[in-house]
Amino acid sequence: IIEMQGVDKWYGSFQVLTDIDLSVRAGERIVLCGPSGSGKSTLIRCINRLETVQKGRIVVDGIDLTAGGKNVDAVRAEVGMVFQQFNLFPHLTILENCVLSPMRSKGMSRQEAEATAMQYLKRVRIPEQAQKYPSQLSGGQQQRVAIARALCLSPKVMLFDEPTSALDPEMVKEVLDTMIGLADDGMTMLCVTHEMGFARSVADRVIFMADGKILEQAPPAQFFGQPRHEKTRQFLGQIL
Ligand code: ATP
Ligand code: MG
Repeated sequence: IIEMQGVDKWYGSFQVLTDIDLSVRAGERIVLCGPSGSGKSTLIRCINRLETVQKGRIVVDGIDLTAGGKNVDAVRAEVGMVFQQFNLFPHLTILENCVLSPMRSKGMSRQEAEATAMQYLKRVRIPEQAQKYPSQLSGGQQQRVAIARALCLSPKVMLFDEPTSALDPEMVKEVLDTMIGLADDGMTMLCVTHEMGFARSVADRVIFMADGKILEQAPPAQFFGQPRHEKTRQFLGQIL
């Protein structure tokens, strides 16, 4: 459902991605990890076209993002994204945060959008917070709202960029449990995270990036048991 072939990206004269080949099948759960600055956020931001690339091809569910034209809206409806810093609109209630995009970009009626939003707020177990504002919620609750908001657009793929790293430790589990629930429901997921427990139990494949390149990828048992690259071993040594 995601195909990246020979993707290069530069920020000015700095090459941030080099020859990225990545293929994700529908239903697959991928964990992407690597040292700070290795290009993980940049890579996943390319998949919903928050970033453009200079070379190579990116196709998401048949939509060619590198062909130019008006593919941005189409792909944003297919690909949900959850960020480290929640990115909720502070001046809108939880419910309004969730209905905004479905009403604007999918033309849903308010009634339908609210019903959908409440369904997903129940699924992330905070329907009772619907009328509150983001600042009245804990970090873990805000992140679950961000996940519900993304799901309201019925995405085919969910991208997560370190969704738990801004949370206090006691709130990490509730967000990971929500993500595990999504995985159990068969959602295609690409998660940048250093939660290696999550990677071991949920991921079909773990991908390791360093210096803008994919250095290795393997199922978790093999990735953690027999990492092939010295850089992977160093990285695992630091975080495990
Ligand atoms: P982290 O683990 O710290 O989140 P990352 O692997 O997500 O790191 P990226 O955020 O993708 O890394 O950044 C990769 C490199 O690109 C870094 O060296 C960063 O400084 C650089 N970079 C990121 N965004 C920009 C930008 N908008 N302009 C210029 N350079 C950038
Ligand atoms: Mg990052």
